[in-house]
Amino acid sequence: MSDVAPLPTAGAHDGGVAHEIYPLGLKVAGRLVVVVGGGPVAARRARSLVEAGARVRVVAPDACEELSVLARVSAPGAVELVAHAYRAGDLDGAWLVHTATGSSAVDQQVADDAERARVFCVTAGDASVGSAWVPAVARTALTDDAEVTVSVTAGRDPRRATAIRDAVAAALQTGTLPLRRHRPSTTGTGRVWLVGGGPGDTGLITAHGRTVLAQADVVVIDRLGPRALLHELSPDVEVIDVGKTSGNHPVPQHEINALLVQHALAGRDVVRLKGGDPYVFGRGGEELAACHAAGVEVEVVPGVTSAVSVPAAAGIPVTHRGVARGFSVLTGHDGAADVPGGPDHTLVLLMGVTRLAETADALVTADRPADTPVALVEDGFGPRQRVTVGTLSDIAERATAVGVRPPAVIVVGAVVRLSPAWAQQAR
Ligand code: SAH
Repeated sequence: MSDVAPLPTAGAHDGGVAHEIYPLGLKVAGRLVVVVGGGPVAARRARSLVEAGARVRVVAPDACEELSVLARVSAPGAVELVAHAYRAGDLDGAWLVHTATGSSAVDQQVADDAERARVFCVTAGDASVGSAWVPAVARTALTDDAEVTVSVTAGRDPRRATAIRDAVAAALQTGTLPLRRHRPSTTGTGRVWLVGGGPGDTGLITAHGRTVLAQADVVVIDRLGPRALLHELSPDVEVIDVGKTSGNHPVPQHEINALLVQHALAGRDVVRLKGGDPYVFGRGGEELAACHAAGVEVEVVPGVTSAVSVPAAAGIPVTHRGVARGFSVLTGHDGAADVPGGPDHTLVLLMGVTRLAETADALVTADRPADTPVALVEDGFGPRQRVTVGTLSDIAERATAVGVRPPAVIVVGAVVRLSPAWAQQAR
């Protein structure tokens, strides 16, 4: 038995079986491509050819509105509209031909003329007529100088190809495919993305956040944030854990800044993966400034902040018609009592567990009613998620009784009554 597959018999004219297609990317820029036909299919083909830089000659007795617009808005000379029915000679000078006339007889004639002229011809209606196919295409722009193009053909079933293309495009856009570059960037310097990872659940990072994560050579991660995503990274991605615990900062901020800069200058693409949003008590602004100061390009990818999403996990909307008209987000460390307003202005306190008793007292002293509802939401979206409710007068005691631990978000205001926990805990 031979392990060499027999070569298929060549057959330019019986077109169509999959192994007879030779996939190829064409540089059409500056080259003449003829499109025969004046309808919407011809218009679509013409537009993508113009986008690829081709000179396009459209041959059709009547061109649809889309084609006239294309000719008007394209660079001078990019689109030539030839207003007559197809005739011999129209293909002169062409590198490639598309025919989409709606008439199989005309398409066949164009394909035959193209064959004689040794020009590849794509036929819109019947893929078996003509000598080339257009695949279903998805393009994703990655870093500034890169684009991934996925082209799919699926035998004679273009809709199957489109469906597969769509699935691959979705995977590209959600960062579930390996997108890292394997050639150094042209500048020799990597980029930094400050990515908001959301409050911890892997479903709450943005699609863009996942796409950049899939491109990272180095990931610098906090304790909070979607750590489970790290398992999906390829084993050669360097993960640096700079996780902070309350009152204990293993890696000081200036060292984190230096790490980002140092890796980027060494040519690596760096994702700084943070919990929540980078700009909500995330020191994203400092990291951005450090990168800028070193001439490193940096992009901020916003995230779902715990300040809004963790209350939501407990069924608490931070604003609610007739209940709360606004909200303030503060740390538990400073100045919550200075925020004006009563129970109709929601206070959201981050990093506030250790000082809860002091904060609650200060709020009452500053004229908030002692019976203002308070919720403590621990480990929002995580396995330990728990909601404890009380009022400014008793929340500290209740928190101690159940052993509340960080991370937790504290919500103060009338909206807390909307939480199922408020009814359950028998207020
Ligand atoms: N940049 C982050 C906040 C960083 S400060 C954001 O936008 O969410 C860290 C604090 O956020 C924690 O002390 C806690 O108050 C809160 N936090 C973050 N994730 C949380 C979670 N999953 N559950 C409860 N609190 C959380």
